[in-house]
Amino acid sequence: MFDYQLIRTEGAARAGLLHLPHGLVETPAFMPVGTLGAVRGLHPGEVDRAGAQIILGNTYHLHLRPGEDVIRQLGGLHRFTTWSKPMLTDSGGFQVFSLETLRKISEQGVEFTSHVDGGARFLSPEKAMEIQWALGADIAMAFDHVVPGGAARELAEEGMERSLRWLERSRTAHQAVADPSRQTLWPIVQGGTFADLRRRSLTGTLNLGDWTGTAIGGLSVGEPKPVMHRILEELEPDLPRGRPRYLMGVGFPEDLVEGIARGVDLFDCVAATRNGRHGSAWTMTGRVNIRKATNRTAEGPLDPTCDCETCARFSRGYLRHLFAAEEMLGLRLVSLHNIRFLVRIGEQARAAILDGRFASWRQDWLERYTRGDDG
Ligand SMILES: [Zn+2]
Repeated sequence: MFDYQLIRTEGAARAGLLHLPHGLVETPAFMPVGTLGAVRGLHPGEVDRAGAQIILGNTYHLHLRPGEDVIRQLGGLHRFTTWSKPMLTDSGGFQVFSLETLRKISEQGVEFTSHVDGGARFLSPEKAMEIQWALGADIAMAFDHVVPGGAARELAEEGMERSLRWLERSRTAHQAVADPSRQTLWPIVQGGTFADLRRRSLTGTLNLGDWTGTAIGGLSVGEPKPVMHRILEELEPDLPRGRPRYLMGVGFPEDLVEGIARGVDLFDCVAATRNGRHGSAWTMTGRVNIRKATNRTAEGPLDPTCDCETCARFSRGYLRHLFAAEEMLGLRLVSLHNIRFLVRIGEQARAAILDGRFASWRQDWLERYTRGDDG
C-alpha cells in the first residue's frame, strides 16, 4: 500500500501508478479540490465521470464546519461525501497562514479566529494530525509554516526551519493516532523562492523519514512563472525517484504541462471551479469567456475537442444564456468542463510519456493553447 510504480520517463516527465487504500491513481494527475466536502457545485458522480481519480479536502474548513467529530460520527469523509475513490487532505497550514483571521504564531502552533463563529481556535502539528485522521483521507499532509509569495529571505528561512521542526512533530503525532495501513503522511518542502533554502528543506525533510511521497508547497503564490520553473528544476534531481511528487495549489492548464515536464506527478487548484463560476472556460485554443456577446448565437460547444458532459451536449449560445440569466446550471456546466480539461491534460501527458512523444506533445499543446486566448 502507498506504493508508487514509475512506469516510464521522458526527460524529467514521469508516468506512474500510485496505489492507495481507496484505489489506484495513474499519474500525472490533477486533483479537484473539494474545499467544504464538495467540489463546488458538482455532484460526486459528475466529478467521477470527469475522470478525477483523487480529490482533495480542506482540513481548515472541515474542522470549522461541520467539525471532524461530526464527520467521524458519519463514517469519515469518504462516507460523508459518498466519494469512494482516493482522497487527500491538506493540513490547514496554508489556510491559517493566508487568511486574515490569523492571530498569533508560536513554536507551539497557530492561533486564529474562526470565520464561522468568531471564536478563538488553535492549530498545531498534533491537532492537524488528529483532525486529518478523523477525516480519514488516504493521504494526510504535514502541518507547515507557509510564508507569503514575495517573502524576504529571513522570513522564508524562518518558515522553512519551523516547517522542518513541525514535520518531526507531525510525524510523531501521526504515528500515534493513525493506522499506517489506511493513511500515510506526506511532508511539504518550503523555502520560498530561494534555491538554497529549498534544497536545505528537501535534505532536512528526507533526513526525517522514508516518506511515501513528497509535496512542494509555497509556490504559485504570486511569484513569476519562471521562478517557479527554476525552483522545480533545482529540486527535481534530488527528489526521490521512486516516490510521487505533489506540487501544491498549482494550477492553471499551462502550469500542469510545465510542471509535468519538470517531474511533477500530482497537482491541485481551485481555479477550475472558481473560473467556471465566472464563465471562464479553458479550451484547447486558450481561454474563452462564455459571457462575451460573440457567443450569443454560437452553435458549437465550448471546445470541439473536449469529451466532457458539457461539450457533448450544450452549445456556447446556451451556456452564455445561462450566465446572462444567472441560472445556476451555467456555473456548474462550465466548472465541470474545466475540471475535465485539467484531468484530461494529465491523461494526455501520461499517454504521450508512455509513447515517448511527450516533448512534441508539450510543444504542440503550449503553441495551440497560447495562440488563441480570447480572454
Ligand atoms: Zn468540455
